[in-house]
Amino acid sequence: MNGNSKYNDLITPISFFKEEVKKFVINRNWIKYHTPKNLIQALQIEVSELSELFLFKEDNVDNILKDEPLISLIEDEVADVFIYLLSFINTIGLDLTQAFIKKLEKNKSKYPIKEFSNGIYYKK
Ligand SMILES: [Mg+2]
Repeated sequence: MNGNSKYNDLITPISFFKEEVKKFVINRNWIKYHTPKNLIQALQIEVSELSELFLFKEDNVDNILKDEPLISLIEDEVADVFIYLLSFINTIGLDLTQAFIKKLEKNKSKYPIKEFSNGIYYKK
């Protein structure tokens, strides 16, 4: 499974990712290291690695999209973030879809379209 085009966001369920990460961890006998604390710290580090790619650089999406080496680095770090998030989810037995749906509903209530469709981002 390396850049295989039979997988993409439109057809790949969350359960596939969760199982792949679980197998990766089990096959290396790393479960003992995958405590919630360790995984959250690893996740933070990977987010920082992603953030570092943008440090002191122009923040223009059109220019980013033209920079193929940068896109490749972004892909790697986004995948690292996702992998550690999935491993955290596996460790605590969370259902990501349920968490997503519940939180999105809370966000819809907090930021109703009627009040925020004018582009205001923050609510006083
Ligand atoms: Mg990384």
